[in-house]
Amino acid sequence: MKAEDYCKKCPECGCADKNIDIVKVPKKTEGIPEDVLESALESGKLTIIRCSNCRHIFEYSKDRKMDVEFKRICI
Ligand SMILES: [Zn+2]
Repeated sequence: MKAEDYCKKCPECGCADKNIDIVKVPKKTEGIPEDVLESALESGKLTIIRCSNCRHIFEYSKDRKMDVEFKRICI
């Protein structure tokens, strides 16, 4: 996800707030890009960018550095 996309509105509900959730790698890995899944399996953790309101998934992320960038731009 590009930096400017973090402030985009949710296509489902129009909410601009997002959560970055770090979760365990699910058994069902459908929809997760291969390279993301690979690094998620390595670390055992999956980073998901979700709508704070309706939980729409924007992106599965493998780059932790974007957390910092996200805060800098949106807060
Ligand atoms: Zn939403």
